[in-house]
Amino acid sequence: MGLVSVRVYGGAGEIGGNKILINTKETKIFLDFGTSFTRKRRFYGGFIKVKRFRILEEYALTGILPELPGIYREDLLGNLTHMNTNEPLVDACIITHAHLDHCGHASFLRSDIKLYVGATAAILLEAREDTKMGKEPEDQIVQMKDYRDGRVFKRQMDTFSTGKQLKIGDVNAVPIHVDHSTPSSYGLVLEMDEARIAYTGDFRLHGPMRKMTEDFIERTSREDVDSLIIEGTRINDPLIHSEESVMLSMISSLRDAQGKAAVALIGPLDFDRLRSLMSAAEHMGRELVLSPKLAYVVDRLAKRATNIQVPELRSKVLSVYLEPSGSGGYKPKKDYRGWLRKFLCECQDIGVRLITPESLAKQMGKYIFTLCQTEDLPELISIKPEPGSIFLFSSSEPHNEEQEIERERVINWLELFNMRPVYAHASGHASQGEVISTIEKISPRTIIPVHTEYPEMFRKLLERHGIKSKVIEPATSQEIVI
Ligand SMILES: [Zn+2]
Repeated sequence: MGLVSVRVYGGAGEIGGNKILINTKETKIFLDFGTSFTRKRRFYGGFIKVKRFRILEEYALTGILPELPGIYREDLLGNLTHMNTNEPLVDACIITHAHLDHCGHASFLRSDIKLYVGATAAILLEAREDTKMGKEPEDQIVQMKDYRDGRVFKRQMDTFSTGKQLKIGDVNAVPIHVDHSTPSSYGLVLEMDEARIAYTGDFRLHGPMRKMTEDFIERTSREDVDSLIIEGTRINDPLIHSEESVMLSMISSLRDAQGKAAVALIGPLDFDRLRSLMSAAEHMGRELVLSPKLAYVVDRLAKRATNIQVPELRSKVLSVYLEPSGSGGYKPKKDYRGWLRKFLCECQDIGVRLITPESLAKQMGKYIFTLCQTEDLPELISIKPEPGSIFLFSSSEPHNEEQEIERERVINWLELFNMRPVYAHASGHASQGEVISTIEKISPRTIIPVHTEYPEMFRKLLERHGIKSKVIEPATSQEIVI
């Protein structure tokens, strides 16, 4: 014993930014390498921007990234030459899912550190990068540019599906699917001679794919788990809203807004929500008009993902919004540039319906205009929803001040058009009861709560439920010997 240790470099006492280093006799593996939006927000935002040439220095100094040698891209090290090593000091990084708070800062890892990613998550990561104009280092998980010589290349990335055994040094890592608000989310079981560690990633037990989380729990409870690293985003929240209830509330608000405009804001990678919205639309005889970015993700997944059901863009209930270009024109070949031009031309060629703002405005009651980011809100100016139109808030609840300010801005847009806000959302994260029952079933010797602002609540709750697992509250970078 004592030969395996865990250090939490991100995700201790904060939601997201997970960076968990597993250290054995022979091997070092990061579980996730996410962006810590909590830390980043403390120093950057508004007019305060990072300088690319010393980005790692700025991020290391502000604690946004851990100051560790031998893990970061050499082309961005700048003055941090002491952190450069010949060989990488970490063998691999396993990414549990495509949310940026779990994978965003993998963009800063050396290109010779292999990334392991779920097969569908890899498609999602690539689709997100494809639609990014002016990619900065932070956006380069799949494809990276070496700023020393301008070379652009794909990183070493191995994809997996549930049950595959990833042999990395003396660790056998087994990813097992879990249900979360994006497809291709995994928990992990790490089998080592000296210890067994399990990691939930982000998960829930109330979603449409809850059976997958049950598989994870069932598989993990058969192992003699020494330590369970578990997310606790909602450890303070006992409420459960199901995806089914989200769909029902969408239907009832659409019924109240017959003949009027309906706009929905959903997470770009949340396919359960997209399906709920599609079912609600079909039920009410409406059609979804997807923003081009959302349509692009749907299209890439429909074309390439094998183990998930994705709607076809050519289906009767879907179409793509022809967002006016900078000059106000709509002709795919003439008025757009970059990925948007390529994608809209492709849509046109294969007969996907493209809807202009004028058509939307003319037949408001026929559509649901579906956005995946608030930057598309000014499109309301072209559509001019009439009073009493509805806006479905269906992306995640604000987790911080910045997101609250953003929500205020959305409300201002809605007030401008006298639109009615409707909240239709179910969380991607396990509720308090779901977290506790997961621990009870897996029954590990110790638990390490991460991805939570309330790690101290775990001890009290476990005591109250008579669960014997010992809670180890992680402190950033502190060694926890398993
Ligand atoms: Zn997540």
